[in-house]
Amino acid sequence: MEAQESNGRGRSRGKRYVYSFGGGKADGNAGLNWLLGGKGANLAEMAGLGLPVPAGMTISTEVCTYYYAHGRTYPTELEKQVQTGLSRIEKVMKRRFGDPKNPLLLSVRSGARVSMPGMMDTVLNLGLNDETVLGLIKQSGNPRFAYDCYRRFVQMYGDVVLGLKPESKTERDPFEVLLEHKKEARGITLDTDLTTDDLRELVAAFKGLIQDRLHVSFPNDPWEQLWGAVGAVFGSWNNQRAITYRKIENIPGEWGTAVTVQSMVFGNLGDDCATGVAFTRDLATGEEALNGDFLVNAQGEDVVAGIRTPQQITLAASRQRAVRESHSEEERKAQYPSLEERMPANYTTLQEIAQTLEAHYRDAQDIEFTIEREKLWMLQTRTAKRTAASAVKIAVDMAQEGLIDERTAVLRVKPEQLDQLLHPMLDPNAPKQRLTRGLPASPGAVSGEVVFSADDAEEAKHAGRKVILVRIETSPEDIHGMHAAEGILTARGGASSHAALVSRGMGKCAVVGCEALEIDYERQEFRVRGAEGVLRAGEWITLDGSTGEVFRGQVPTREPSPTAEFTTFMAWADRFRRLRVRANADTPHDAQVARTFGAEGIGLCRTEHMFFDGERIDAVREMILAEDTAGRVRALDKIIPMQKEDFIGILRAMAGLPVTIRLLDPPLHEFLPNTEEDLVDLAQKLNVPVERLRTKRNALHELNPMLGHRGCRLGVTFPEIYEAQTRAIMEAACELTREGVHVIPEIMVPLVGFKRELDLLRERIVRVCTEVIHAQGVTVPYTIGTMIEVPRAALVADTIAATAEFFSFGTNDLTQMALGISRDDAGKFLPEYVAQGIFPQDPFVSLDQSGVGLLVELAVRKGRVARPDLKIGICGEHGGDPASVQFCHQASLDYVSCSPYRVPIARLAAAHAALREKPPVKTRRAPRRKQAEPVQAAATA
Ligand code: PEP
Ligand code: MG
Repeated sequence: MEAQESNGRGRSRGKRYVYSFGGGKADGNAGLNWLLGGKGANLAEMAGLGLPVPAGMTISTEVCTYYYAHGRTYPTELEKQVQTGLSRIEKVMKRRFGDPKNPLLLSVRSGARVSMPGMMDTVLNLGLNDETVLGLIKQSGNPRFAYDCYRRFVQMYGDVVLGLKPESKTERDPFEVLLEHKKEARGITLDTDLTTDDLRELVAAFKGLIQDRLHVSFPNDPWEQLWGAVGAVFGSWNNQRAITYRKIENIPGEWGTAVTVQSMVFGNLGDDCATGVAFTRDLATGEEALNGDFLVNAQGEDVVAGIRTPQQITLAASRQRAVRESHSEEERKAQYPSLEERMPANYTTLQEIAQTLEAHYRDAQDIEFTIEREKLWMLQTRTAKRTAASAVKIAVDMAQEGLIDERTAVLRVKPEQLDQLLHPMLDPNAPKQRLTRGLPASPGAVSGEVVFSADDAEEAKHAGRKVILVRIETSPEDIHGMHAAEGILTARGGASSHAALVSRGMGKCAVVGCEALEIDYERQEFRVRGAEGVLRAGEWITLDGSTGEVFRGQVPTREPSPTAEFTTFMAWADRFRRLRVRANADTPHDAQVARTFGAEGIGLCRTEHMFFDGERIDAVREMILAEDTAGRVRALDKIIPMQKEDFIGILRAMAGLPVTIRLLDPPLHEFLPNTEEDLVDLAQKLNVPVERLRTKRNALHELNPMLGHRGCRLGVTFPEIYEAQTRAIMEAACELTREGVHVIPEIMVPLVGFKRELDLLRERIVRVCTEVIHAQGVTVPYTIGTMIEVPRAALVADTIAATAEFFSFGTNDLTQMALGISRDDAGKFLPEYVAQGIFPQDPFVSLDQSGVGLLVELAVRKGRVARPDLKIGICGEHGGDPASVQFCHQASLDYVSCSPYRVPIARLAAAHAALREKPPVKTRRAPRRKQAEPVQAAATA
């Protein structure tokens, strides 16, 4: 896109770099924010709407690009265009730049395409010198005010443009030091007690400081000041702060900043002046109510800086504050009357402008204004940042008000934001003492006493105590403790470590991979490397699973409360999406939770988790210890009836919806005790010599268990395990069918890499299913499929699809094996890899689309060639990550499956993916979605 200035006869006069606004006219508009930055574009838009905006001009982002491409110089046309722009400002404002009698003063501000709050530089009160300050005195009738502006200008210019800053970390700002000296000499403490003479002397002292330190004179020529400030703002695009911020927020460096030069207006000329910030809706709750703060006789910076406590804009908010602070109505009126009472005419204007802006932008606005001698000026408007709760409410309300359509409403809320609504959060106002930070593995905010073992967690829970289970890492053996604990904290492991995925599955708060933790099980304590003190078992800590932060003590939390708007919002989202959303759930309870979150089936039931519950683990261990098939069958006969009960519960909870049940996956040693003490206990319980147990454990030991004897390799070598599990599934399904419950079981084989593996296992599964169906005398439709989690399976997906009726991408293992990175050990180097840009994000959180994604796409293509109706889903942790969901939509998967608590996030992400590829819908009603599978109606959290 190129910006050309037309001479009105259709011929171009060269490139336009400067866009004027003010006096009811503007060259640009909000659509040009790529060129004018957010601030400049919105000022132009407001001026175009006839709103009171101090006249100004914006130098486009293209100049910034030019500036860096040409050794920090400007295009030749710029100077002339700036002069023309400035003449227009002078005309509208009826003041002249540099005029000693009636000077125009300017602000020079940055403005990128997206807001980068506080990252770049600003210069205010530009145009002042020893002559023009006299003109400002004449305009304002207030010498003290004029010299205060002058002193602030020299200070700001010296710092921002000339670069006079502290030379070391310990040095104080040299301008502030002079200011302090002045106050000390005068025996005062407040800036406001400085007299006109004091301020005049400070101006001279500041200029002297600049001369001494930098060996340059402070520029008196306003034009020299202006070009200096413009250069400084462009230069600030590449200061370290801005570069870091862009990296975090993914803002491209090529965008550049615009520079907006605008006439100054003053909120600090007296008691008929004010400055403030207003929001068109309540950004915490979404309520439709103008609100915000202002200060009488103050400059914009003072409102945010918190030096004085601002007053409320509306009377209602001021009264609410009085109730909170136990003030009488008289006290309130005297101390902090609202703008509504203090300046009623300006309040009405502000209200009207707020309405105009909302109707115009069709979104909640964040507004900055200044009142100079009873005239209200608009200094900024932008889309207001908001909490998840208010984002949902504002989107639904605006659609219902007819301001936006449902499609736009759905796109207004980021999927990830919903997380805030589904878990308790830490009270943002509560005092906190942070200990350390790990990976935010599973959201929520919880507090509890520190315990170091699963058994202690369970015991404490029985005693009615709340605990946080702190482990170096967790294993399936810890499940009961994880269940009992409020939250999980581990020192090792990544986003798809055992601790992370089990916690997410349980909807339990977890912080994992906290590498600074030094845990000593023996002494029952942990320290944080680099920090003072230890924390012992029984002491309280708090976890924030959304940020990964760990705090000492108990921090109060807030409960989420899904609203009617949330239900409406999710129903709209569901109408737009194509992808189905299922849940990973291993228990009837989790299945029930998943259904209330709107899950349309189960995409992964990890049967091994059932093996750990209660007495089952002993029977499982008996099976592992058995020397022959007969012994294993005997042990399995004890486990299977219990597992069948779970299947009955899960299939019943998911009546009418598909349930994918995975046959046993982990290596068997995971079921044996880790410690010698537990081994002795178990030997006693099973009445076998401890030596035999030890030998067995050693025999099962694997150097690399993730690539060892697990998954379908167990099924191939111990046929009776998968046969018994299949029997339990089919008996559960038949019994429910007889009861009239509609069940759709899908039996899934893990870790397949070869067609022959699946052929062999499928034959055995079919045989058992047929036997059960025969014996029970009912028909149950079932399917047999496989996980695609070994890269080879993706490469030969066509051959595997000849046998598999469905694929489910196990992207945890697929990522681990494709990248050659152990998912449980990655925590040691992954953060560094992300920091150094080797991975854009943790590949166990967000799918490595350009690598693992290729395997997924290949498997989908080959699989569907071999079997056009192949059903394909994903059940790795990526199924709940919005960017990965979008990828799955584009890769034509049928569904994603994620932890129950992420189901609404995935539903919204799926809707966004579908909406982004479709052109906007003209009508207000959204199209109805074709329904291939039954859909859960009560889709609320
Ligand atoms: C996977 O590998 O993505 C998967 C879902 O299986 P698990 O995490 O149980 O290995
Ligand atoms: Mg796996």
